[in-house]
Amino acid sequence: MLRGLNMDRQLLISSLIDYAGRNHRATDVVARTSGGALVRSSWGQVSDRARRLGGALLGAGVSQGDRVATIAWNDHRHLEAYYGITGIGAVLHTVNPRLHDEQIVYIINHAADVIVFVDPDFAELAERIAPQCPAVRRWVRLDADYEGFLAEAEAVEAWPLLDEWSAATLCYTSGTTGNPKGVLQSHRAIVLQTWATCTADGHNVNSGESILLAVPMFHVNGWAIPFASAMSGAKLVLPGPDLSPPAIVEWINTEHVTLSAGVPTIWLSTVQHLQRTGQDIPSLRRIAVGGSAAPRSLMDTLEDDFGVFVAHVWGMTEMTQGSSGRFTNRVEKLSRDEQRRRQAMAGRAIFGVEIKVVDDEGNEIERGSGAPGELLACGPWVAGNYFGSATESATSHTSDGWLRTGDVATIDEEGYVTIVDRAKDVIKSGGEWISSIELENAAVGCRGVTQAAVIGLPHDRWGERPLLLYVADEPVDRDDLLDAMGAAVPKWWLPNDVLAVADIPLTGTGKIDKKALRQMFAGHVWPGRDPDSSSDSGSAKQ
Ligand code: ADP
Repeated sequence: MLRGLNMDRQLLISSLIDYAGRNHRATDVVARTSGGALVRSSWGQVSDRARRLGGALLGAGVSQGDRVATIAWNDHRHLEAYYGITGIGAVLHTVNPRLHDEQIVYIINHAADVIVFVDPDFAELAERIAPQCPAVRRWVRLDADYEGFLAEAEAVEAWPLLDEWSAATLCYTSGTTGNPKGVLQSHRAIVLQTWATCTADGHNVNSGESILLAVPMFHVNGWAIPFASAMSGAKLVLPGPDLSPPAIVEWINTEHVTLSAGVPTIWLSTVQHLQRTGQDIPSLRRIAVGGSAAPRSLMDTLEDDFGVFVAHVWGMTEMTQGSSGRFTNRVEKLSRDEQRRRQAMAGRAIFGVEIKVVDDEGNEIERGSGAPGELLACGPWVAGNYFGSATESATSHTSDGWLRTGDVATIDEEGYVTIVDRAKDVIKSGGEWISSIELENAAVGCRGVTQAAVIGLPHDRWGERPLLLYVADEPVDRDDLLDAMGAAVPKWWLPNDVLAVADIPLTGTGKIDKKALRQMFAGHVWPGRDPDSSSDSGSAKQ
């Protein structure tokens, strides 16, 4: 091999904060603490304080590879923890505070965290669980306690030169399905995925943007945006605990936010709020939406009424962003309707995450065939295994090393991915599949329906049939709803029952909690007759 003659510099997270601290010192990092204080910090301050935090951690006996947890909202101190912890070679373990106590205890013990930073909002939680977490040496409250921890410390002068394969972040999947599993990302993987996040085909994070981080920093590292903002020197707005629509709209307008990201539920409720109040969000140009399927009606309203482009992407804790929501040059030239049709899908593969759909035997399904199969992924920043489970990969990965995403999907001839469903949520009616996602999107497109969830429940004749639960802001006639949905999906897919509910339970990351719904409606009794199945072939045809 003729070796290239480049410098031997490792890809390290510390280089991101060094870059921002030196080149974007005065750029704003604005945060709201859980106590309600507005803090105007800057990349310079975040960099300086992260070094001080690094020093404090070393002083507290934290070594390279040790796990240090955060149970925190999006604010400047959490951002400092992102860099202070990883900078010294310890592992940033972001815990989702909305999980049940037992799950949090499980995760903290599984990770063997040695220090936990806790927002004052979760002080009680910490007190409750501390006796069950024997490995934790210190709980630091993110208030005066944290400031004291920093004040006593000597700042790290220069970050250590780690091996880029050192573990940097640990994030457990939120456990919508099964036990949480730890995704351990290396510095190299984080820097590479951060670069992807900064590309225009990624989330287009760049120094010209003011970014509102409406994704919790405990959800897939805030989709790498806290890292990408440092890599590019973007202004960053960290909203604290309040992600209510009025708060989001106020942030956008006071901090002239140009770019944001978040799960569809956040944007659905924000749009309804804007429509109700007649407010506008003129500075916002683009949002990245993912984590669950975004209905087309959401994209239509955001773009037509508010001038906001929606980049609809697919991703997972195991890789962060897995697809690109940007229109290609060819798609840019198509009609709006054709563009929207593509936008409603979950994007196209982004460089760095290879994807394919396979049949039951593991053979790749040809793109464009329309046949759904299991979505597999591989690439340099895709998880190759889970933390602390040597055997897990036997089921989570194929024998040739691809990650089994657990999603059922199609990929069309242009490379657009459509997530049909999670394998665990797809409704198996007779021998065929019904997509709960498509039914939900069809329902949300109907007048009055603001949120919808579809689950499969046992049915004597078909094995499983769909139940639709919806939240409405005006009375909705059941037959009108089914008629309207029937225009968007095959008739035999139509739910056997529809129920109006006051709200739909969400997981800690804002997704529909189907596990909870299946439990809540386990005893549901179907009404007398099957849905009209006079057209379309299918299992429910009578
Ligand atoms: P959890 O599985 O615990 O919710 P993740 O946040 O990692 O944790 O979820 C990843 C999953 O979210 C994907 O496997 C997929 O099922 C779903 N998802 C992500 N983006 C989309 C999207 N654009 N459309 C449909 N589903 C999506």
